[in-house]
Amino acid sequence: MMDGLTDGLWLMNNGDIALEDVEQTAFAILQAGRLRMVKTEYISCPGCGRTLYDLRTTIARIKEATKGMTGLKVGIMGCIVNGPGEMADADYGYVGAGPNKVSLYRKQVCVEHNIPEEEAVEHLLALIKADQQGKQ
Ligand code: SF4
Repeated sequence: MMDGLTDGLWLMNNGDIALEDVEQTAFAILQAGRLRMVKTEYISCPGCGRTLYDLRTTIARIKEATKGMTGLKVGIMGCIVNGPGEMADADYGYVGAGPNKVSLYRKQVCVEHNIPEEEAVEHLLALIKADQQGKQ
């Protein structure tokens, strides 16, 4: 699928899985293979000893704030060490820059440095909205 060799997929269900769950699974696979984007995509690291902010709470906040932005890819990385490389496919990146500090990326370019963590989600939303308005 990732190599472009697939046009679709067929999931077998003998009736004991709800149709909605089958559909959501199918769409999730198609989105992971970049064949059909049906929701916002999040690329996040699992967190480790280098994580510089509250990763789980932040992921939940970013998901809530961007859930309707179908097709948008947001990278959420705990630190600068591996973050930018691991989110290479993302449209925007939210990356730990220091203890409770965050830097924001547009694609691979850092566009805001060392924002206090408590303000960073709002800055991310403002950046996305400004870019969207610039395209209209
Ligand atoms: S991006 Fe940084 S914080 Fe996240 S898992 Fe990798 S090294 Fe750890």
